[in-house]
Amino acid sequence: MSFWNAFSITTRYAELPRSFFTYVQPTPLENTRWVIWNSKLATQFGLPEEPESNTELLSSFSGEHVPAVFSPLAMKYAGHQFGGYNPDLGDGRGLLLAEIKDKEGNSVDLHLKGAGLTPYSRSGDGRAVLRSTIREYLCSEAMAGLGIPTTRALGMMTSDTPVFREGYETGALLVRMAETHIRFGHFEHLFYSNLLSEQKLLADKVIEWHYPQCIAKDKPYAAMFDEIADKTAYMIAHWQAVGFAHGVMNTDNMSITGQTFDYGPFGFLDDYEPSYICNHSDYQGRYAFNQQPRIGLWNLSALAHSLSSLIEKSDLESSLEKYETRLGHYFSQLMRKKLGLLSKQEGDSRLFESMFELLSQNSVDYTRFMRALSYLDSQDKQTVVDLFLDREAATLWVELYLARCEKEDKSAEIRCKEMRRVNPKYILRNYLAQQAINKAKDGDYSEIKTLSMLLASPFDEHPRFESYAQLPPEWGKKMEISCSS
Ligand code: AMP
Ligand code: MG
Repeated sequence: MSFWNAFSITTRYAELPRSFFTYVQPTPLENTRWVIWNSKLATQFGLPEEPESNTELLSSFSGEHVPAVFSPLAMKYAGHQFGGYNPDLGDGRGLLLAEIKDKEGNSVDLHLKGAGLTPYSRSGDGRAVLRSTIREYLCSEAMAGLGIPTTRALGMMTSDTPVFREGYETGALLVRMAETHIRFGHFEHLFYSNLLSEQKLLADKVIEWHYPQCIAKDKPYAAMFDEIADKTAYMIAHWQAVGFAHGVMNTDNMSITGQTFDYGPFGFLDDYEPSYICNHSDYQGRYAFNQQPRIGLWNLSALAHSLSSLIEKSDLESSLEKYETRLGHYFSQLMRKKLGLLSKQEGDSRLFESMFELLSQNSVDYTRFMRALSYLDSQDKQTVVDLFLDREAATLWVELYLARCEKEDKSAEIRCKEMRRVNPKYILRNYLAQQAINKAKDGDYSEIKTLSMLLASPFDEHPRFESYAQLPPEWGKKMEISCSS
């Protein structure tokens, strides 16, 4: 009897007509073995804490023996890439294996990235390399640790299969979990292919599976779009507040449930540089850090256009018009918590603006600055001032800030304690990911494990790992991350 029979496994997506997907079996890699298994996430689904405790786990996820309860399939979608419509997309190397329920009964997709060729592979090889798989694993878990909506990583496997990119690399597999793998691009594909009754069906299923609260609304489809817009604003507000740049905000990388999705050449800000571009193929800076809120709206407008036969124009416009206010609201809530200034007072906007100006002019490390503010109960203001070149301006700002803190109805101890719960000490700096990758290439996965542990609780102090919270070394600043994955 299969180990999987004890689980509640379905594949609701396969209820959709065959024009939405193709059944594809994974093509196994050579000598697949675990690199890391996310024990904590696994146990939320009743899966084993130790992957070695059950050999079926590896053979199921490596594609060696696909369990009968899985229905691996490649989804068809399209999308706007760097502003241009590409009808020719779909799961080119990933497969939806099945859906599994967590202990609360919520269904989650089990997806295998790097699983081999599909009808949507175009000129690709259907594979993912170890380097990019490590980056996605670490970043999705870092985002989850930070409380930012994201897909998750259940486990990662390596192999002896060579995969060619700029040179030969190692083929790897990622087991990804997500509320859904339905993207903005699913709706765009059906619209531009003039499959409007299929599109209505997809909207009905999206509402049934992900937005059941919309069913009872006067206009369920308009309510669904409004929810998608709201969740997108919420997600991007979190990116901006923590200093995360996604790098490839194409509409095929936008989840319809507002989870950060498809990690590629992402980057966390080191120095506060608003126009930071983490994707080195992004010559125009379309997806620069400070463009993300605007691109979120652009992407939602593309989705709205594709839904125009299902939802009245005025309803679509009304949700789009609300987007900026919503994002601003979420962002200012997050920044208020980060600064410990919860009450709204005159002059706050100016204080916030001057902080961002100073950070940018002085190239101050964003994460270390925020964390330093959250220690001003026990440490001298000079610890913050010393982060700046222009100490005079910094002193002035910190004095204004501390005077403003006095107007909060809270002791400095409590304020700072709360601030330390929202200002991470540990983020996934590019150089840290690179160190883990370099070791993994030699078969040493210890750094991946250390980083996973730290990033799962980024707000806690980990005295033995102080060096992971320091400024990047010279070689680790402004790293060029290969876009190939
Ligand atoms: P991404 O840049 O990873 O978001 O991928 C964009 C599109 O290219 C998606 O349709 C992917 O499935 C596809 N793709 C990316 N890499 C590969 C690959 N190595 N083989 C096949 N398809 C790929
Ligand atoms: Mg993608």
